[in-house]
Amino acid sequence: MWVVPEKDIAGLMTPEAAFDAVEAVFAAMARGDAYNFPVVREAIGHEDALYGFKGGFDASGLTLGLKAGGYWPNNQKHDLINHQSTIFLFDPDTGRVSAAVGGNLLTALRTAAASAVSSKYLAPKEARVLGMVGAGHQSAFQMRAAIRFGNFEKVIGWNPHPEMLSRLADTAAELGLPFEAVELDRLGAEADVIISITSSFAPILMSDHVKGPTHIAAMGTDTKGKQELDPALVARARLFTDEVAQSLSIGEFQHAAAQKTISAEEVTALGKVIIGDHEGRGDAEITIFDGTGVGLQDLAVAAAVVDLARQQGKAIEIGI
Ligand code: NAD
Repeated sequence: MWVVPEKDIAGLMTPEAAFDAVEAVFAAMARGDAYNFPVVREAIGHEDALYGFKGGFDASGLTLGLKAGGYWPNNQKHDLINHQSTIFLFDPDTGRVSAAVGGNLLTALRTAAASAVSSKYLAPKEARVLGMVGAGHQSAFQMRAAIRFGNFEKVIGWNPHPEMLSRLADTAAELGLPFEAVELDRLGAEADVIISITSSFAPILMSDHVKGPTHIAAMGTDTKGKQELDPALVARARLFTDEVAQSLSIGEFQHAAAQKTISAEEVTALGKVIIGDHEGRGDAEITIFDGTGVGLQDLAVAAAVVDLARQQGKAIEIGI
């Protein structure tokens, strides 16, 4: 089997490879070639940790495996980040394990790639202003991918903890774009694309805030109870997601679905737009992509990084 350690991922994985892998696997899901297994997530009663697995099989890319890991809130005492994960790939012909890949940076890159893919297919034409809601660890990755794959001229941002806004200002400066911290009503009125990436449990972006043609990539809600958007905003928009079942159970659309202001039939898998089975934005004013994060995204970027590591002689081969 091949091992690609966490410390080598940054030097191997490119944003383009992550974008292409995520776009391809969303398309494979829409064609019915790839499916995600039910998610396992357990509070293990030790170190307050949440541990689980996300897995799947892509018969077109021949990618089989799982991401194992979760959230360890006390990891600071070990000098480690709280989110820890490893991706394991298996040979679909034999069942033998074929690779173990560090999953921490890959998770951020595949999440950012998913929102960038959603903007490629759903953003209004001539989108020039990017609005960021959230300024945590993931926000910098989100901004970098959006700028790389879009034509933005300016970034505006808001965060519930204003002292964290320097991360957005620094990232925009690194990318050579002007940044302005604004209130949510200005953000909703001026931004053509909005990325929300917070760990909020109550709506932040309200229906009244958002004006004019806008695409919203709602990326923060990946668990039951989390919420970033006003259900009235969701009810007003054309809705897309990575996986419909996950969106309605643990994603942003869980709330509007529970209030019965939207139905499952109104939510389209982004892959359908990618393969040309759905028109996408059409004449909608607001589109929302609910990026819940599926196991197949992790497997797709892990397979891409194993290929890159092998090409560059950086994959470690061990017998097992
Ligand atoms: P982080 O801890 O680095 O930052 C947290 C962000 O949420 C900050 O903007 C902070 O100001 C805000 N926040 C914290 N507590 C809040 C509260 N009670 N109410 C409102 N806002 C609050 O986290 P991160 O690593 O940047 O992750 C952000 C979110 O993205 C998390 O919810 C995480 O689970 C989620 N996430 C989703 C995916 C996916 O595939 N969709 C992947 C990775 C992370």
